[in-house]
Amino acid sequence: MMLGSMMHQPLLISSLIRHAAKYHGDTAIISRETSGELNTTDWAGIEDGARRLAASLGKLGLKQGDRIGTIAWNNHRHLKIWFAVSGGGMVCHTLNPRLHPEQLIFIVNDAADRAIFFDKTFMPLITGTRQHLKTVEHFIYMGAPDDEVAAAVPGVLFFDDLVADDTGYDWPELDETAPCSLCYTSGTTGNPKGVLYNNRSTMIHTMAISLPDALSLSATETVLPVVPMFHANAWGIPYAAAMTGARLVMPGPGLDGDSLLGLIDSQQVTLALGVPTIWQMLLTAAAKSGSKMASLKRNVIGGSAAAPSMIATFRDKYNCETIHAWGMTETSPLGTANQIKAKHLALDPAAMAKQRLGQGRPPFGIELRIVDDEGKVLANDGKAEGALQVRGHWVVDSYFGKSANTLTDDGWFDTGDVSTIDADGYMVIRDRTKDIIKSGGEWISSVDLEGIAVEHPGIAMAAAIGARHPKWDERPVIVAVRAEGANPSEAEIIDLFKGRVASWQVPDAVVFTDAIPLNGTGKMLKNQLRDKFGEVLIERGASA
Ligand code: ADP
Repeated sequence: MMLGSMMHQPLLISSLIRHAAKYHGDTAIISRETSGELNTTDWAGIEDGARRLAASLGKLGLKQGDRIGTIAWNNHRHLKIWFAVSGGGMVCHTLNPRLHPEQLIFIVNDAADRAIFFDKTFMPLITGTRQHLKTVEHFIYMGAPDDEVAAAVPGVLFFDDLVADDTGYDWPELDETAPCSLCYTSGTTGNPKGVLYNNRSTMIHTMAISLPDALSLSATETVLPVVPMFHANAWGIPYAAAMTGARLVMPGPGLDGDSLLGLIDSQQVTLALGVPTIWQMLLTAAAKSGSKMASLKRNVIGGSAAAPSMIATFRDKYNCETIHAWGMTETSPLGTANQIKAKHLALDPAAMAKQRLGQGRPPFGIELRIVDDEGKVLANDGKAEGALQVRGHWVVDSYFGKSANTLTDDGWFDTGDVSTIDADGYMVIRDRTKDIIKSGGEWISSVDLEGIAVEHPGIAMAAAIGARHPKWDERPVIVAVRAEGANPSEAEIIDLFKGRVASWQVPDAVVFTDAIPLNGTGKMLKNQLRDKFGEVLIERGASA
């Protein structure tokens, strides 16, 4: 067989950080320390720290393929750990500190992590769970030697000691299919499952998400990943920033609206990424302070559906274009991003705004299809709704440690989402299969209803759930949190829906609550809301 005659260089995470240090070495990386102060380093500093750390991990006996956990905020030490562990051939396993301790224990044991890095905030989590973490030989505190930590975590090692010496370590040559990182799904139902990424899949994903029609990163951008590094690898941003030489601003523990606003304005952030609940807090803080967030040109909203009113507020009040994106832990995570095509350039503002509401189209490397209950592929006509399936270079094949095949017989991954896809490939998530409201055999999209409910200025957050009904099986009910100082009535909220959705889709009731429970990545826990409010229509006397 004849082969091409070009150099073969494996696609490795270490080449990203090498590139960043060599060609963008003086580009700043700003991060908020756990203590609250701002730290400034640059890409050369991140690479230097990562190499020193990789050498020390080797000396501790950690080997290629070993899983190494992190329980940490987005900060410069966490970045160094990412590149040290993956670049050194080990597997960086980001742990979500907001998980229930039982789940954390399950995940660490399932992954068989040999070491865990932790930020000071999470020391209680370490001391509280340590006795159950049988495989962990090293606990490494992300900071300078500290007596309090040494007393609380006997045998602890200190990050700053591990990066004290430069031993001239160089990145190893690895096979590009060697694993590099591990991330568990949120596990709202059942135990969380691990997705083991490899160098190659991560590198191709990194190239794809950096492109102008995806998240559009470059060496002129200042990027704020509010999305945590433990949430689907911060959507790949640390890698993409290294590839493109972007300036990074890491928010550390300051995830409240005021702290984020302060960082955006003081660091002149041009692109920020996060889930809708984060943007809700940021918009509240900006409205209070009067800041126009003038530097912020674009934001990426994903993880849950972005409400149309939120996208409009960013555009109309802050001159910030939202890139609405969809993805999953199983898809590295980027599956689609909403960017326009040439044919949309002539659209009037209202039509353009509409075009940009959905979750967008796949970049090269991802393919989508929708199927019906029997698995028959449905038309891409923008109308047919079906189960969304995906395949591509950075899509999971099987879960970590599980031999059972997770794919369909013809090799697609079933996402658990219901969507439409139009002829241009633009996908719109209608719902998660388990959240869709089934009224008398017809489907009602909870995403649509939530988008309308939060248009009301008196509503801070809203979830639409199917409540049990003696005649229709389920009917839509809105569970809402009032905005500070507002007191909207149930009738007022119900009126919002009239004329906007078919009359049979108008919610039967609105119940107000103090807070909507969120999972570890900021998504509304609708199963808990169904447990709490699922009988509200029966209680109110609904009958057949
Ligand atoms: P992650 O929490 O890492 O985003 P999960 O695997 O926990 O990934 O969740 C993925 C799910 O999140 C998707 O299957 C989909 O239901 C939902 N999701 C992600 N992005 C969006 C979006 N833009 N709009 C609606 N739902 C979304």
